[in-house]
Formats: sequence, structure tokens, C-alpha cells
Amino acid sequence: MMDTPIAAMQPRRTLVLHRSSRLAPPMAVGGHGVWLVEQGGREVLDASGGAAVSCLGHQHPRIVAAIQAQAGKLCYAHTSFFTSEPAEALADELVGDAPGGLCQAYFVSGGSEAVEAALKLARQYFVEIGQTQRSHIVARRQSYHGNTLGALAAGGNAWRRAPYAPLLSPAFSHVSPAFAYREQRADEDEAGFVARLAAELEAEFQRLGPDTVAAFIAEPVVGATAGCVTAPAGYFQAVRAICDRHGALLILDEVMSGMGRTGTRHAWEQEGVAPNIQAVAKGLGGGYQPIGAVLVSERIVAAIEAGSGAFQHGHTYLAHPIACAAALEVQRVIREDRLLDNVIAMGGRLEEKLVERFGNHRHVGDIRGRGLFRAIELVADRATRDPFDPALQLNARIRKEAFARGLACYPSGGTADGRCGDHVLLAPPYIVSPAEVDLIVDRLGEAVDAAI
Ligand code: PLP
Repeated sequence: MMDTPIAAMQPRRTLVLHRSSRLAPPMAVGGHGVWLVEQGGREVLDASGGAAVSCLGHQHPRIVAAIQAQAGKLCYAHTSFFTSEPAEALADELVGDAPGGLCQAYFVSGGSEAVEAALKLARQYFVEIGQTQRSHIVARRQSYHGNTLGALAAGGNAWRRAPYAPLLSPAFSHVSPAFAYREQRADEDEAGFVARLAAELEAEFQRLGPDTVAAFIAEPVVGATAGCVTAPAGYFQAVRAICDRHGALLILDEVMSGMGRTGTRHAWEQEGVAPNIQAVAKGLGGGYQPIGAVLVSERIVAAIEAGSGAFQHGHTYLAHPIACAAALEVQRVIREDRLLDNVIAMGGRLEEKLVERFGNHRHVGDIRGRGLFRAIELVADRATRDPFDPALQLNARIRKEAFARGLACYPSGGTADGRCGDHVLLAPPYIVSPAEVDLIVDRLGEAVDAAI
């Protein structure tokens, strides 16, 4: 095991309360394309776009210009009094053609805020239509929906929830994830696996009382908790049917998997279902500004219009003009430069290279994902699929080894229930080139071998 010192990770305390109270991160001072530049000039390949955020890479001239132009015109106008040109134009870009029946957009400042708003909107919908008994939200284990209390209660990430458990609402319950590598039984085919998951969800509705369930929430492709887990074919259609049968809403959390990351603007387009409410963030603004959105279907809009007339929710920075202007330009660049074609092409290359490098690796159990949203899962033993002992902190070691080699990727530990091993998530910008894809896999390969 190689122990590479990273100067920047020396313990030191700064006035900023960082994620780690023991290690201060290095200073990022610039960026270009898929590269981030540290103080001192070292360049780091941003192979996960932060956490699947930087979909256009760094310092894209069109986005920088759009931010500057909007800042020169109007920085802020409170949404109690005004709308703004960029907010209206961004809504038109996102829901002007009502994809899947989603017809209005509500702009917030990030993913957790989008999920909070989505959950409250679901509840308010049922209050508006007089079904006030609907207060349960069903979610999945091994999911991540954000770190604020409502989103954390929806999430099924055991270690993130644990310290705050007494603060989390009992209105949320969890069913099994659609995670074939870990959950599909040896004697079960894909259809059988889907049928079992659907039966479990149906049983959960029955346990709660089907007319007390407001919504089921899920990530179409699970991101942070288990690493790019796609659902088996037919799963989301089965889930949609259960929600419809019982009059509950389907909320899809596309904060990480949406806005083109998997090769279509919305990941649900590949599942043959549309949600009633959708949360998006990260790739919406590409990191250029903090922004998220809730996309809402006609059924909900109409109920609020016919009822109280107002979504009882709001933050000071709703629909911030500069954030909306940045996101609008990000989405226009993705469309005009046909970047989803590159997501599909480079996603295919990334998968190929990962299979070439890790397909026979004794400690890589699974290679999965879609588009430019890929992960490898590390196992102590490929035959038994046993994860590494969490005490080894393999994910932290891979992060360190990768960073020492000029690669920023997104390794996470296994789940506390032992049902998912350490994994590394890759989500490079949509502009990534073939040579950069190859470099990501080369550096990751070296890092994994040095860390184990
Ligand atoms: N939902 C999903 C699926 C996410 O992956 C995340 C963040 O990783 C969130 C919600 C929370 O977003 P944010 O960190 O912007 O609050």
C-alpha cells in the first residue's frame, strides 16, 4: 500500500468550518474545461464534476458572460413582488413543451431545497383536494435526497441519518432499493426481481393504509449512496402503477441523475414513466450558481389554482435572477452544442475503458451506470461479493491516492447495513474528450491498486 503525502491535506485549522474539522482542503484558484487549478498551479482532473455538478466543466465563457450580463442588469428582486426575465425564460426552457406533463417550474437554491419543496408540495396537493389523511411518504433504503431534515428523513442512508434520528419525521418509511447486484436473488430473473420489489411496495402501502400515502420518492439512478445504480427494466413502470392504483404521487429526485447526466435531459425518459413532481439541481446550473428546481405536473398546479391559490413555501432566494440566467445559459449550451450526443458517446467509452481496466480486477465486483454517470463497486471477494471492512476506509484511501495523481473522483464508503461496498462514482463534464476519459480510467486504476 502506497502512502502518498498530499501537502494540501496537512492538518490545519482555518476560519472556514470545512467538511472535515481535521483536514483543510487545498485552495482551488481557477479552472478550465475538465480541469481545476490549485494554488501553486497543479491541475486536477475533475472526474466527478464535484458531485455530478459541473456538467460544462469550469469557466465556460458563455456562462461567465451570461452571469456578468445579468449582474449588470438586475441582481435581485424579491419574488413576493416581481418575477424576472431569466426566471421566466428558464421556466420556458425547462417546461415550455411540458415534458411528461410537467408544466411549471419552481426555482430554489439547490437539491435539498428542491426535495423539501417537492415533499411539501405533495402534502399540500392533498390538503387542497381534501385528502388531508395522506401524510405518509414511502422512500427507499440506500437513497440520498439531501441533508435538510425533510430530505434526510426521506433518504435511506443509514449513517447520514443516525445522529439526527430523533429529529426525523416518522411520516417516512423505506422499502428495498432496486439494486440488482446486491438485492436480486440467484434464483430470480429480472422480471421476478421487479415483481418482488413491486409486491414489497404494495405491502408497504397496505401496511400504512393506501389512502394515507401521499407519495413515493425515488432517484431514477441512485447516486451518492450506492453509486450509479440503475433500476431493472420495468421497475419504474411497476412503481408508477402502484402509485396510480392508490392515488399517490410519484416524486422523482433527479438532482444528481437529471439534466442530461444519463444521456437524456431527464433520466425518467429512459424508464417510460413520468413523475408528478420532479426535483432537479446540480446539472441545472452546472455549479456556476447555486440553483435547483421543482418541476410540477398540471394535476398539482390545477389543484392549487382551484384551492388556496398559493404554494405555502418560500425562501428569500427563490428564482434568483443571476442563478436563473446562469442555468438558462447552461441549458442552452447543452442543447445548442448537442452535448447529450457527447454524453452518450463518452459514456460508452468510459464504460468500455472501465471494463477493460477493472473487468477482471479481483476487487471490483460491479461496473455500472448510464451515460456519463458511472461507478465501480469494490469488494473484498468477487465470488461472495463481501464488501471490505469499513474500518479500512478504502474509499478515503482511494480518494487520497487519486488526488495525489491529479484526479478528483467521488469514492464513498459501503452502506452501514453491509449491503453495498465501497464504490467510486465518476461523473465527468459533458464536454469530456476521449483522451480525458482514458486518463480518468488510467489514474483511477493506479489509485485503486495503490489503495488496496
Ligand atoms: N438528491 C440527490 C439525489 C442528491 O444526489 C443530492 C446531493 O447529492 C441531493 C438531493 C441534495 O442536493 P444538495 O446537496 O444540492 O442540497
